[in-house]
Amino acid sequence: MTGLSDLTAHYERSPIERKHTLPHLRRSPPPATARTPPSLLALAAFALACGDDPATPPQEPPPPEDPPCSRTSEAGYVRTDSRFTEGPVFWPAEAVEGCIPVAFDPVGSKDLPAAAARDALWRAADSWAAAAEGCGAPLCLRDGGDVPRDEGLGLREGGPNHNLVTFTVDAATWDALQSPTVIAVTTTTINARTGALVDADVNLNDAHFLFADDEVGAPPDALDLETVLRHELGHLLGFDHGADPGSVMFPTEASGGERRGLSGDDVAGICEAFGCY
Ligand SMILES: [Zn+2]
Repeated sequence: MTGLSDLTAHYERSPIERKHTLPHLRRSPPPATARTPPSLLALAAFALACGDDPATPPQEPPPPEDPPCSRTSEAGYVRTDSRFTEGPVFWPAEAVEGCIPVAFDPVGSKDLPAAAARDALWRAADSWAAAAEGCGAPLCLRDGGDVPRDEGLGLREGGPNHNLVTFTVDAATWDALQSPTVIAVTTTTINARTGALVDADVNLNDAHFLFADDEVGAPPDALDLETVLRHELGHLLGFDHGADPGSVMFPTEASGGERRGLSGDDVAGICEAFGCY
């Protein structure tokens, strides 16, 4: 397979807390009234090309193999730009028709039982699917089964490829990949000729952060796993950070641990991105 490229989207803790400044990090705007919440989170994304030279994109990209659907909207959502074609990334029709599989690393998280982490994942996935169903868009996600990290993380030439959710518990392993302040990374691999998504993996930083699936009784520093996964699945589905402060794809989280659902912009995005299949 030729012309594959990776895009990574990072979910990060704000430098306000960690005094750790990254050039791509966007700081949360100061709240209008309330005091600054104790646990500000910031989400930031940047694209990193691997396996293809971004300086030499195809001069005449062929028509996409599937309709990219809406590319712009007055709503606040943003679809991930493929960087190599004129349009956003998108899942091929056969992937959408068969339901996009999401596999789970059975090792799970150190912070909560694997069953609870799975439940959080599927609540997050179901929220996106329910939003699509509400407007008749044929988006569905299905259980891709248990896939060990070594088999599922990253792209494999010739496949099979798994869209994997995995937790990195070991600090040295995480630190070799990302800054400790990064909460999660979703790496999507696309066909650079068409913008079609090939693989998407969600890697959560379980080495430096604590995840919880319930606000009640959770440690004050814990992150709501369902919200983090809803955000990362948004990247998996082809969305970048958006401008709606209520959106789960907004680049900053104003109050740590608080569960965030889909906003009107998120729903508009999923309906327009998946409405034309
Ligand atoms: Zn993000």
